[in-house]
Amino acid sequence: MMTPFIFFLIFTLCVFLVARPFLIDELPYQTVEDGPSNIEQQKVNILKQIQEVEFEHEMGITSDDDYQRVRADLFQEAADLVDNSKHHLQKKNIQTEYKFCTQCSSTLDPMDKFCSSCGAKVRE
Ligand SMILES: [Zn+2]
Repeated sequence: MMTPFIFFLIFTLCVFLVARPFLIDELPYQTVEDGPSNIEQQKVNILKQIQEVEFEHEMGITSDDDYQRVRADLFQEAADLVDNSKHHLQKKNIQTEYKFCTQCSSTLDPMDKFCSSCGAKVRE
């Protein structure tokens, strides 16, 4: 029968909902250094939260109002992050010159060893 499975599902969901505030508290919002990898990590975190919110809304756990509000908040957060990483890139571009691939003329990151478009080795 399906009953044990449904019980298991509800149990898992309860554990998840109880544990969630603690998990979210542990997200390194304020303590992070302003590095690209941390921005990537935060983007992934926000994306996960958006997926969770959408999942809970589909399951009928979150009301329409909450869903809209939380979702808008998360998207705002994501937009802020993108702004931050743009800012970060701009700073980087001022400090270091652009490089271009000698094979295909793609723009290269100064740290790249190989062209991300054609794979050619970058000359130092
Ligand atoms: Zn190339």
